[in-house]
Amino acid sequence: MMPALGDPSNPLRVAVVGAGPSGFYAAEALLKQKDLAVRVDLFDRLPTPYGLVRGGVAPDHQKIKSVALVYEKIAGLPGFRFFGNVKLGQDVSTADLAARYHQIVYAVGNESDRKMGVPGEDLRGSHSATEFVGWYNAHPDFRDRRFDLSCESAVIVGLGNVAMDVARILAQDPQDLRGTDIAGCALDALMKSRVKTIYLLGRRGPAEAAYSPQEIRDLGELSSADLVAKPEEAAVSEASRPLLTDPAARKNADYVLEKSRAGEGAKPKKIRLRFCVSPAEIVGENGRVKAVKIEKNRLVPDGRGGAKLEKTGEFEALPAGLVLRAIGYRGVPIPGVPFDAESGKTPNAEGRVQDAQGAPLAGHYAVGWTKRGPSGLIGTNRADSAATAALMLADAKAARVLKPGQDPQSIGDFLRARGARPVSFAEWKTLDALEKERGRALGKIREKFSNAKEMIAALESAACSK
Ligand code: NAP
Repeated sequence: MMPALGDPSNPLRVAVVGAGPSGFYAAEALLKQKDLAVRVDLFDRLPTPYGLVRGGVAPDHQKIKSVALVYEKIAGLPGFRFFGNVKLGQDVSTADLAARYHQIVYAVGNESDRKMGVPGEDLRGSHSATEFVGWYNAHPDFRDRRFDLSCESAVIVGLGNVAMDVARILAQDPQDLRGTDIAGCALDALMKSRVKTIYLLGRRGPAEAAYSPQEIRDLGELSSADLVAKPEEAAVSEASRPLLTDPAARKNADYVLEKSRAGEGAKPKKIRLRFCVSPAEIVGENGRVKAVKIEKNRLVPDGRGGAKLEKTGEFEALPAGLVLRAIGYRGVPIPGVPFDAESGKTPNAEGRVQDAQGAPLAGHYAVGWTKRGPSGLIGTNRADSAATAALMLADAKAARVLKPGQDPQSIGDFLRARGARPVSFAEWKTLDALEKERGRALGKIREKFSNAKEMIAALESAACSK
């Protein structure tokens, strides 16, 4: 008789797709529990692990990036394997995984971003912050992007932490980025940048801003730029006052007020925080961005203890040669998995993926931004992935799993037979060492490889020279 699922001779076999924080935390929760024997294979479309920790977190936030050491430890747990450079829907299908694993966890994050929906959004010089962030972080998808920094004025739309990152990278002295792992081409471009004024646009007020208190403070304390706010916009509206009971909102509002009282300052660059304004149009000239037309909003009580915005019909134009929208990420469909096009999410109930009728799809789970949408900090994902892992273990005990007919031990051979070139965790460690070595030669902590071909060639040449 077949031993029970989870017996060491019949371990629960799990495929996790996406090697960012939520994928690693799901692997950790599954491998560290003692109830069932579990094996986890973690797949990523890139040869490199760590998702947004590598490709999203700003290069001047190395302390945040050091969370990768935690993931490295997870990768060392018995039962863990990594298959980088394997794309779901191209190198392997959901059906291929379902034929080999009892459970599949989607941890693919949100690869796209939201659009403003205003005229001129597609003009040259108007980009998503996602592209800009990917570019300065040497993400393979964005390595060939170019940003014209020869203009004097840039506009960033949105007041979340991504907007803070992007504003800081544009405003700080590039000399301070020299020793980091920033992409070489981005560092060169920033060294030549002529951007002096950076507008940050919030459609609501200082109490509603989505950034964290520490992030706005970091921006306000740069040696190269003054953070400037208009006193009339920095004052919290009557309708927003109830929000100030939240400590973060209070800190944010107080800090903006303090900055509005400090005036213009004397630093060479200005970051101009604007509140209660919405982009109405990106104005172009010869196909290129020239200005952003904004409409002023007023905040009125929303009847639920918060404030909602009303348009005023008053417009203003801000000069801009570069526009970056940082108004939130958006999920893209995962091949073979239900998707709600309206919300940009994988439908799920606490991580159990749902079919079109809302019933749980046995064996399929979502974690991280695939589960919740684009919210929360890196650490948010630990408890969130652990909660989904707990449901997975309960489902496994109740035999609500896929019925794989094949052994996943041979998945590497299967992938190679398909023409894929999976990268193991040991190979990632080789790439890691090579990047650090390349960085040392340039006085940087790391010089990243930015495309898969280059990485595979480096691995083959390292293997030959052994
Ligand atoms: P976010 O926190 O959701 O902020 C989005 C911003 O865009 C908000 O200010 C929002 O305003 C605004 N917005 C949305 N639609 C808009 C529109 N049509 N017009 C004008 N403004 C619009 O998103 P995010 O900055 O992309 O960050 C995503 C997640 O990653 C967040 O949880 C964030 O904390 C996290 N993150 C953290 C760090 C860090 O810790 N250093 C760094 C980067 C990202 P409303 O509030 O009015 O909707």
